[in-house]
Amino acid sequence: MRVGLGYDIHRLVRDRPLRLGGVDIPSPLGLLGHSDGDVLLHAVCDALLGAAALGDIGEHFPDTDPAFRGAHSSRLLAATLDKVRAAGYQPVNLDATVVAQQPRLGPHKAAIRQRLAELLGLDPSLVSIKAKTNEGLDAVGQGQAIAAHAVVLLKEA
Ligand code: MG
Repeated sequence: MRVGLGYDIHRLVRDRPLRLGGVDIPSPLGLLGHSDGDVLLHAVCDALLGAAALGDIGEHFPDTDPAFRGAHSSRLLAATLDKVRAAGYQPVNLDATVVAQQPRLGPHKAAIRQRLAELLGLDPSLVSIKAKTNEGLDAVGQGQAIAAHAVVLLKEA
């Protein structure tokens, strides 16, 4: 068994889609990024890479690479899973927290959990998504950004 930790934060801006965990969420503001800015999937990728000691998402999918411009981050997750499997591991479970002052994510948690389970090839009972605000404090709390934390367990395949 190996455990990995992932973290990411992206700025909220106008005229961008808001996609979290591979799910499109209606919002006047979306996440800035070279890819689609899916902060949750990026945190999950880093947790997977971390558990396998394979580096970080910036090494594998640099934001200077035109191949990933505007890319759906589910592509990054699929490529990350390929690397983890090639190293001899498979995911056991995921626990994640998304920190967003707006929009409220409660109504979207079930869809995000379902989608992440599909992307990871896990039963939804092995995937946990929690939503927090930052109580109006700091840049996340003031609605300028969304952050995500993820912990993944891997086992030998
Ligand atoms: Mg990112």
